[in-house]
Amino acid sequence: MRIAILSRNSKLYSTRRLVEAGVARGHQVDVIDTMHCYMDITSSNPSVRYRGKPLPKYDAVIPRIGASVTFYGTAVVRQFEMMGTFSINESVAISRSRDKLRSLQLLSRKGIGLPKTGFAHHPDKISDLLKNIGGAPVVIKLLEGTQGIGVVLAETNQTATSVIEAFMGLQANILVQEFIKEAGGSDIRCLVVGDKVIAAMKRQGAEGEFRSNLHRGGSASLVKLSPEERKTAVDAANTMGLNMCGVDILRSHRGPVVMEVNSSPGLEGIEKATGKDIADMIIAHIEKRAKPNKTKTQGKG
Ligand code: ADP
Ligand code: MG
Repeated sequence: MRIAILSRNSKLYSTRRLVEAGVARGHQVDVIDTMHCYMDITSSNPSVRYRGKPLPKYDAVIPRIGASVTFYGTAVVRQFEMMGTFSINESVAISRSRDKLRSLQLLSRKGIGLPKTGFAHHPDKISDLLKNIGGAPVVIKLLEGTQGIGVVLAETNQTATSVIEAFMGLQANILVQEFIKEAGGSDIRCLVVGDKVIAAMKRQGAEGEFRSNLHRGGSASLVKLSPEERKTAVDAANTMGLNMCGVDILRSHRGPVVMEVNSSPGLEGIEKATGKDIADMIIAHIEKRAKPNKTKTQGKG
């Protein structure tokens, strides 16, 4: 097969590993810088041009779209879909997963366990918003933050009110969430490919840090999942419409709750923590799925 990895940097661990795994399985793999793709969207024969030439027809693309380039990146993925190329994650599903609020609304509709969460645009009823989710301590999050940036723990209602007012004053979209204290600064990253959790790791935040992000100094270790946790992760991935994703779960007193779903999960932490060849499993999944025109949206939406 001919596979394109949409990535801004071929030296990134995940990109490198996917190239290696694809080549090892006998495929031709190109890394295409998403931001250097341009498109003729009006022609009856949709194509993607790249560095002055039309790109060849790929059987499959693996989008690795950074959060800062979601808008343009998903447009490029959509163009590949219009050409009948299979994308391991569809453009609509990627856009969906980038908005934490939209994601939580979709997951909640399907009855998937979530931390109690509220959102508001206007600060006039902050006390009611706080009361509804059970009062402080609460976690306040920017809707489009990543890597733990824009995630704040407010220990008292007074602090929470000040932080919410400050974010709202900056016109930032936020959500306010019950603090799952019993998670003890850790979460579980489940890597879902197809209908299975193929690997999982526990991430523990650095000393005194409630955020478990590896980018914030967290550390990863092996973890054994309960059947309920596996089911929660797979249900969350299906609800988002993602074939490959990282589902982050907190262990709460009332069972697993989903914190977020990441459509371009990093491979380094989880391959190192589990010793598994995850890149190989992703390519194997593509081999099974990438029949021409098998991307459901075909560039719609
Ligand atoms: P980001 O997209 O920036 O990673 P997250 O929503 O994943 O934002 O939050 C970052 C980290 O903060 C999580 O990995 C988790 O460890 C911690 N965290 C987030 N929300 C909660 C919560 N409601 N209760 C307890 N810890 C939380
Ligand atoms: Mg996170």
